[in-house]
Amino acid sequence: MSGAATLGQETIDVEGVLVDTRHWIDGRRVRSRTTFADLSPIDEAVLGHISAGGTAEVDAAVAAARRAFPAWRALSADERAHALERVADGIDARADELARVETRDNGSLLRSHRRSVMPRVGHNFRFFAQQVRTLMHPDREIRGHRERITYNPSGVTAVITPWNAPLMLATWRIGPALASGNTVVFKPPEWAPLTASLLADITSDAGLPPGVLNIVQGLGPDAGAALAGHRGIRRLSFTGSVPTAGKVAAAAAPNIVPLSLELGGKSPLVIFDDADFELAVSLAVEQFDNAGQVCLGAFRILVQDTLYNRFIEAVVDRARQLRQGDPRDESTDVSALVSRQHFQRVSGFVERARAEGASVVLGGGPNTELGGLYFRPTILTNVSPDSEIVTEEVFGPVLTVQTFGTEEQAIEMANDTRFGLAATLLTGEPERAERVSAALDAGTVWVNCFFVRDLGAPFGGNGHSGIGREGGVWSFDYYSDIKNTVFSPTGWNSEQKGSR
Ligand code: NAD
Repeated sequence: MSGAATLGQETIDVEGVLVDTRHWIDGRRVRSRTTFADLSPIDEAVLGHISAGGTAEVDAAVAAARRAFPAWRALSADERAHALERVADGIDARADELARVETRDNGSLLRSHRRSVMPRVGHNFRFFAQQVRTLMHPDREIRGHRERITYNPSGVTAVITPWNAPLMLATWRIGPALASGNTVVFKPPEWAPLTASLLADITSDAGLPPGVLNIVQGLGPDAGAALAGHRGIRRLSFTGSVPTAGKVAAAAAPNIVPLSLELGGKSPLVIFDDADFELAVSLAVEQFDNAGQVCLGAFRILVQDTLYNRFIEAVVDRARQLRQGDPRDESTDVSALVSRQHFQRVSGFVERARAEGASVVLGGGPNTELGGLYFRPTILTNVSPDSEIVTEEVFGPVLTVQTFGTEEQAIEMANDTRFGLAATLLTGEPERAERVSAALDAGTVWVNCFFVRDLGAPFGGNGHSGIGREGGVWSFDYYSDIKNTVFSPTGWNSEQKGSR
């Protein structure tokens, strides 16, 4: 069944792609009486009115996922892997459509969606399909007994994700959850829900059985809260902001549901004066990617005082050359912010920083030539270490630059944050790289590079940046109920020595 071709009035046309506006529950499209408007960041046009779920839809989706669980978990790892590879094939075949719809929906660059994001979406299924085939612990002998460790599916997994890379972030959780043998209920972000609906079509076309993946659209406090607090779920993967994570964790707590939380950051970019200068400038300017709406972004630049003047001059000069505009245009470097509400939030941070005495050396406000939700790439200096602009996540195209004198100061300033998602260190000295990288408190540390990500590596944050690690075998640790079975050498009938 191809969702788009059969759906009639519930379907909207987005960049030439037909998208169903209803939920996907138990292998069927389901409509809600209430809807929410989905706007494009590019021009604030209404793209469609999307079914807005609540308790009833979440109940139906969790029930469907629970019904589908026994048969899905009973498949061999290889059978599940084949099913996920068919999904990956479907994603690859429709990658350009997904890219066009996602760009219209969340305003991120079309060229990035085409070149890196959508290929990664397919890879999210293919990689974990391959992993589950080889997932095993060898049996261990312990005091003459044999110990067998198995990864058992844990049940229904709830997935709740944000809008800044909607399909990539969702499938990076859905892929390993399904590979593990769990069934899934997914709540996509209300500011960019459309590619989730296309994923439903793709999984249906790939023959994923009804109920294995369910999608309930809606607002966070309605659909999201109902899902997080549902008694029928056994895992909860949440990606989003710290305040929402607190609510989600509180909702899940009475049901003793294990959480995986991937949250915000305020990551440092630490630049020593022995670093490759060109690299330092280009990595600083790279932070304006996706208009700064990147959890891993290194928005807190710490530069050695001896390098400061030369660095600021070069970064401002380079950032001025960035082209801001429509994300569908191949030559655009920086696009719009996702929504009016988010635009006002980012503006508020910059206005308050300015009022507190920060110097604006680049940008500092809306791009008045473009209007709408386009906020200029902004660089602030003269910021105090305990100010809001230095300590809080802005999630927009806003960098602060501070200086340090010694290595000790650099480490202290880099770690002076309640977050701990990532840190980037630039130095030409290998011994310094060893010392400082070891001292940095973050889930991922990049040395003389940035954003090098591999699905086999553990990913997650310290402190307020999250709980848990996913990626590679760590994903299976989380999505599975890991079991230890101990076989005694004695007590067996005849010569059988237990089931080897
Ligand atoms: P958000 O917390 O507002 O929303 C995230 C999701 O939670 C959305 O789907 C939303 O509908 C839902 N939600 C809202 N209220 C809820 C509730 N009461 N119960 C259950 N669900 C609810 O975050 P956002 O603004 O959409 O995304 C930006 C944040 O996400 C930033 O903080 C960013 O750093 C973070 N993020 C983290 C990572 C990571 O991997 N660490 C990746 C991307 C984004």
